[in-house]
Amino acid sequence: TWKSEIIAVGSELLLGQICNTNAQFLSKQLAEIGIDVYFHTVVGDNPIRLQEAITNAKKRSNLLILTGGLGPTKDDLTKETIATMLDKNLIMDNDALANIEAYFQKTNRIMSENNKKQALVLEGSTILANDYGMAPGMALTEAGFTYLLLPGPPKELQPMFNHYGREFLLDKLGVKEQIVSRVLRFFGIGESQLETDILDLIESQTNPTIAPLAGDNEVTLRLTAKHHSIDKANHLINVVEEQILNRVGEFFYGYEEDTIFSVVFEKVQQSKYTLSSAESLTGGLFSERLTSFPGASEVIEGAVVSYTNDVKENVLGVSKQTLDTDGAVSSKCALEMAEGVKRLLKTDIGISFTGVAGPGTMDNQPVGTVYIGIALPDRETIVHKIQLVGTRDGIKQRSAKYGCHFLLK
Ligand code: ATP
Ligand code: MG
Repeated sequence: TWKSEIIAVGSELLLGQICNTNAQFLSKQLAEIGIDVYFHTVVGDNPIRLQEAITNAKKRSNLLILTGGLGPTKDDLTKETIATMLDKNLIMDNDALANIEAYFQKTNRIMSENNKKQALVLEGSTILANDYGMAPGMALTEAGFTYLLLPGPPKELQPMFNHYGREFLLDKLGVKEQIVSRVLRFFGIGESQLETDILDLIESQTNPTIAPLAGDNEVTLRLTAKHHSIDKANHLINVVEEQILNRVGEFFYGYEEDTIFSVVFEKVQQSKYTLSSAESLTGGLFSERLTSFPGASEVIEGAVVSYTNDVKENVLGVSKQTLDTDGAVSSKCALEMAEGVKRLLKTDIGISFTGVAGPGTMDNQPVGTVYIGIALPDRETIVHKIQLVGTRDGIKQRSAKYGCHFLLK
């Protein structure tokens, strides 16, 4: 088993200019994977005192994590000090050098000679790539004592530890890391809005990571956690999921392969309610989607495609006055359609769709104006108005999805 400690190198830490957050981060991560940490040491950019600190660590521990002092400047001397102590060479690592050159090219700067110094690594060490900076990390075991060298900037250290360092340690312990991921699905919110609402979480979360993906008016977030215990990985995901849903929960509808239709279907099925739809602009699309699930007959009583005013009035019972004064594309018409189909087909819930799918306008309403009525048992009927853009087909499809979205509320 490991007995570990952490040495943070940097005079700015001793001067009180910055806090030793790297030690805090690493201790937390190490505790999570079951590695005990016994000492935190802070030492300035001084080779003699750094040697002293390392020598102390060697007497009492078998794993030492060092942070800082891997940079290009003269005061960066962590690996130099260890090379001296172990009588090892520093050798040029070609991958690291290529990474540094690419970094300079990307940022359009000239690479100075001392930047090459960052690609020098301890002979015989395992290299940990730096995906967010230049200096690579290193892991080295010598006579039963393991060194892990990580860069000082937290933005480099944290991903390096999460992506490579942790795995190295678990490997040494003979423990396999498990990857667990979960997809959260959202409807009714754009990708950029969702990203803005949780940007700080996306940027600060490293385990799990949060990856957004946009689809057809839908957004998904994939949360991926790594841990040697699957339970713990799931727990890490649960915590972040809760944080996300605290902010954008009203748009969340399901997980993994769920669709908004399957979620609505299951919800209505579980409630033992029956559902009918009065569909004008959607032309039956809504009921078509909901009847694609097995067991649909328990849930879907039927639908009326009330495309013309004639059908709205004579089949659904929408009043002539509503059609004459408010028009077919109106809140009042949507309300009477939803209540009409619910009454006609004797269901618990009635939903209606009326709107302008385009390309031409209707009743002076712009293309994309859609009213969705929802008549529920023992409640007042609610009408939602939405304004969509896009093609005729796109507007129809999205209207059907919005119907589900409002049913879930
Ligand atoms: P660089 O290539 O940036 O020089 P480095 O590996 O040489 O990286 P240092 O020069 O020791 O690291 O530190 C660079 C910066 O990283 C510090 O100015 C500080 O902002 C941050 N840093 C270093 N050590 C710590 C620490 N223990 N906790 C938090 N931040 C730290
Ligand atoms: Mg430095």
